[in-house]
Amino acid sequence: MSISILEIDRQRLSSVIVSYSTCKVCGYATSDLNITLVGHPCSHCGSPSQGGMLLFKLGVYIMVDLMQEYYHLHPTESRISKALGENQENHLLAIIVFYCSLGEILLENFLTDYMNKISIPDKVQDELLRDISMDKRLGLFRALTGKKFSQAVAELDKGSDKDYQRVVESYINVREKRNKFLHVGNMFIIGKEMVEQCLTDSPILINLFVKLHNVFLVEPVNQIGNENA
Ligand SMILES: [Zn+2]
Repeated sequence: MSISILEIDRQRLSSVIVSYSTCKVCGYATSDLNITLVGHPCSHCGSPSQGGMLLFKLGVYIMVDLMQEYYHLHPTESRISKALGENQENHLLAIIVFYCSLGEILLENFLTDYMNKISIPDKVQDELLRDISMDKRLGLFRALTGKKFSQAVAELDKGSDKDYQRVVESYINVREKRNKFLHVGNMFIIGKEMVEQCLTDSPILINLFVKLHNVFLVEPVNQIGNENA
């Protein structure tokens, strides 16, 4: 990306970093918008497109756009920052909360897609997703895919320039800080640098789940085209 996502203000950030659709035939996810054009051949299975489907649920778009909106909010436009003094930037804390939610939604999105693919009934899915703790969710990931999440991420890191492992480790660190904030209640344990890291990591975190989708949820086909994701 030639321009830092921190500079994107006039265009919705989700339109830049969440533009992934899937082929209705094989399920392959790509950022190539041509997949939404009826008749355009899928780069993975070669089938004429029947119109693409969005890979991610609305919550992913909303979290990304909220992160962007709060980052560009001037302290004087925020009641909490204004109340605490002109140079306070407590409203930036919201970005940490949104980023944590983004990761949780991405993981749930993947788990739901996986369970739909293997036709687990809705009631059972609800039961399996009832516990929202990260440990339980990652346990479900392992039960479904047969792989530990960390192992799947490490395998994707090989031959990639995306640095998924670092982003996942950083995400875990951000979650710990967020939890600590709940007890300490001080913005200073977070800091603007971490907020900006969350924003710049968000496209990589999203791309990680695109890759996981393509590894675990795409129909095997003989005709494999170029990678666009
Ligand atoms: Zn396809």
